[in-house]
Amino acid sequence: MHCLECGATPTVLDNEHLLACSGLTLQEYALRHALPLDLLISPDRIGPSDGSDLPLMPAGIPDETARAVLAGLRLAGKVDDSGATCRIEGGIVWLDLLFCDLAQLAPYGFRFRQEYHYAPGTHRVVAKNFLITLKRNLVGPWLPARVPPPEQRTQYATYLAHAGELHAGYLFMPFASPGEAEDAAAFMARELGAATRPLDCGFGAGGALLRTLTQADTTRLLDGLRDELDAMPGVWTRFHPDTPAITVSKEVVFDSAHFLTDHPAKCSNLHGGRYVLHVKVRGQIDPLTGCVLDYGYLKRVVNARVVERFDHHTLNYAGPELAWRSTTELLSAYIWEQLIDYLPELVELTLYETPQSWCQYSGPDLETSQREGSQPLLRRFTDPALGHSPWRQWLRAWDARHENRQALCD
Ligand SMILES: [Zn+2]
Repeated sequence: MHCLECGATPTVLDNEHLLACSGLTLQEYALRHALPLDLLISPDRIGPSDGSDLPLMPAGIPDETARAVLAGLRLAGKVDDSGATCRIEGGIVWLDLLFCDLAQLAPYGFRFRQEYHYAPGTHRVVAKNFLITLKRNLVGPWLPARVPPPEQRTQYATYLAHAGELHAGYLFMPFASPGEAEDAAAFMARELGAATRPLDCGFGAGGALLRTLTQADTTRLLDGLRDELDAMPGVWTRFHPDTPAITVSKEVVFDSAHFLTDHPAKCSNLHGGRYVLHVKVRGQIDPLTGCVLDYGYLKRVVNARVVERFDHHTLNYAGPELAWRSTTELLSAYIWEQLIDYLPELVELTLYETPQSWCQYSGPDLETSQREGSQPLLRRFTDPALGHSPWRQWLRAWDARHENRQALCD
């Protein structure tokens, strides 16, 4: 087969040839030349490797860095050791980070592999890139019986590099369990002076999501781990992106009943309708994902925070904020407050009460809402000052005098 990189005609165009002639993997070669992998892979090369070519013994006793990197990858949900092997998968756009991990993990006997699979759903050959070792190399008897816990700076820097996402200056950090999120929050507060807050969105069974509390906390967190993050290819620039800003939009629909207290016309009657909500988020393209944010995350947040609360409910009874008048205007302000903690890149909401009537709203950014709190219009009936005006005191005194007079007459 003719190699478009070096012009030679090797018997097999594979990673071995390509790494030697151009430093590319076969998948990168396919992407560079916009060729389907199906054309480059013979059927006998499709399928998982059986691990028989892997070293049976680790290369040495894993040092502190190796243990910390493995622990960080585990936290990031990248380690799959459900079978006889341990696999760490990486995306094609960031192979250098995977190779950087490999350099640290070498004592465990890890190797890099690019596997080709037939994906029946799309009728295509797809590639997977991963590091692999035999699972027994992680736990074998050659390891010291007692080892101190892995070094935390490297562990959390590795975790952030693989799982952290930056949105509008706030770092979002998913964890598999609340316990892991608590440990991470404690480390970040203690060692880096960075405050975080857990976001409860009911995502995944037992999962947890942490966000830096303020943009200043993000700066402290990243600067505190700068040496570690700088040493990993592409990570520092990913958290300081210089990529185009794009607005992405999601439409959701919910059916709700509502009424408007003290409305002079028929809107004071309980009536129902189909609300259509457009949520617009503007942010910079993440060079790792090619996206501003994951549409799946956007949908889960809007469903959990808005749709599930309102769909087939009476808006006025969804919360005291809307009990008086659930107008599209107040509803938009309320929805904004439900979303901004989870979507700090939120720029606009458009809410249709009917196809002919809608409103657009851009509320305060997260920093401003943290400083100023909830919109006073939504707090009117929960404000502790309600009921304590001088006029109410006058009314109570007047009522009391009136009753006394009544008692005298009786
Ligand atoms: Zn070549």
